[in-house]
Amino acid sequence: MAEAFDVVILGGGTGGYVAAIRGAQLGLRVAVVEREKLGGTCLHRGCIPSKALLRSAEVYATAKEGSAFGVMTEGLAFDLGRAMERKGKIVEQLHKGVQYLMGKHQITIIDGHGRIMGPSIFSPTAGAVRVERKDGESEIITPRFTVIATGSRPRPLSGLPFDAGRVISSDEALELRTLPKSILIIGGGVIGVEWASMFADFGVEVTVVEALPRILFQEDEEIANEMARLLKKRRVKVLVDAAVDAQTYRVADGQAMIEAMVRGAAQTLAADLILVAVGRQPNIDDIGLEATRVELAHGAIVVDSHLRTKEKTIYAIGDVVGGMQLAHVAAHEGILAMETIAGASSDPLHYEQIARCTYGRPEVASVGITEAQARERGHAVKTAKFQFRAIGKALVYGEADGFVKVVADSETNDLLGVHMIGPHVTDLIAEAALAHVLDAAPFEIGRTIHPHPTLSEALGEAALAADGLAIHG
Ligand code: NAD
Repeated sequence: MAEAFDVVILGGGTGGYVAAIRGAQLGLRVAVVEREKLGGTCLHRGCIPSKALLRSAEVYATAKEGSAFGVMTEGLAFDLGRAMERKGKIVEQLHKGVQYLMGKHQITIIDGHGRIMGPSIFSPTAGAVRVERKDGESEIITPRFTVIATGSRPRPLSGLPFDAGRVISSDEALELRTLPKSILIIGGGVIGVEWASMFADFGVEVTVVEALPRILFQEDEEIANEMARLLKKRRVKVLVDAAVDAQTYRVADGQAMIEAMVRGAAQTLAADLILVAVGRQPNIDDIGLEATRVELAHGAIVVDSHLRTKEKTIYAIGDVVGGMQLAHVAAHEGILAMETIAGASSDPLHYEQIARCTYGRPEVASVGITEAQARERGHAVKTAKFQFRAIGKALVYGEADGFVKVVADSETNDLLGVHMIGPHVTDLIAEAALAHVLDAAPFEIGRTIHPHPTLSEALGEAALAADGLAIHG
């Protein structure tokens, strides 16, 4: 007789393994079916390895400017192999950590590919799950609930498939053995900008092609424009309003070539490599959805505010439901799904209170709505900005580009959004996110005494500036 589980989670990525832990904390018997490695995209092909390489790029860039700090770095060189090795060690250490946590919470891990089979005689309401194990055996589990946490994968550009050679996704970029001399990045979203920044620091010639009128389109316009300006200052070519014609892709003279219309003018773009970063598509294939009433929209699973699908016993979380495809969102969706399954009353997630981060140099981070969104929604908008160059710690640190922008309602004094570009803002944004959750007004952030000298003073000053009270601006 197979072991009985309350919940089977398909996919052990950030959403899946966090859900499993929360489920175990709530007393549920949980199994995770994972066909690759626990930790999923974030740990093995996303957040962690890319941030490890970005850190190598940052150290290299800082070392190049070492003489400004009095650190002489003659004969400086970058060794991609060692950077990759370091990245691999960090990933492995965290992978062990996730395995340890699964054991600690007595979560059963099943190595294999899971497919929902639909209602069964053992479990007429829940739907059984058949797992094809890596050892070739298969087993059937009949949980009370199933949580789909199968994640997403890079979306190819129509007509330009990934070929693991010259046309690659971020997955292959993480495994490069040598650096190209030049790279064309299609897509100026989060992935495009992070890799553009990294490759620029590695000394690669970078061109970013973005179809929309600006890169980082989801971010506040002033922030996105500042990022574009700073990338251009580092000799990254940023082409916006630009459409590549996939049909014209060819390899000539050892280079990938493609035609593009850039602001209405034809251009031939050439580079050693093309990195396609035009979004990620949910992994909904071959998991048995056809045997269920689970509904799809735009290739993602439709869920309600508590992550329930149209099938009573099936939940879905993380990238597979579309929306904000972020590891921290997946994790919290996992927690909410498990609390709902366990009958705990939990508030739905407020997606506008969740911080978004882009880990280029400088970093970009934001929470809440942009100035343009605030105006569209009819707020009486007031904004304030504070530049990092007026912050002592930023000058000491040697990274003083960027600013913090606060968007507020001038009638109610409500905080509507905080937008940051600059050093370590992906860490600084947490304070703004807390302020947003607690419904703090800008003056309350400004009244919070920020230690000196720290980068956090930029938020304090920007918040004071919203009432015309900044001290150093
Ligand atoms: P994205 O949606 O952020 O950006 C894709 C960009 O490609 C868009 O700006 C889009 O206009 C552009 N684009 C689409 N088709 C194009 C074309 N034919 N030519 C030129 N440009 C085109 O997607 P992404 O950057 O691939 O990232 C995928 C997902 O992963 C996102 O949801 C992202 O938030 C997430 N992610 C997050 C992080 C992070 O939080 N730091 C890091 C990596 C990925």
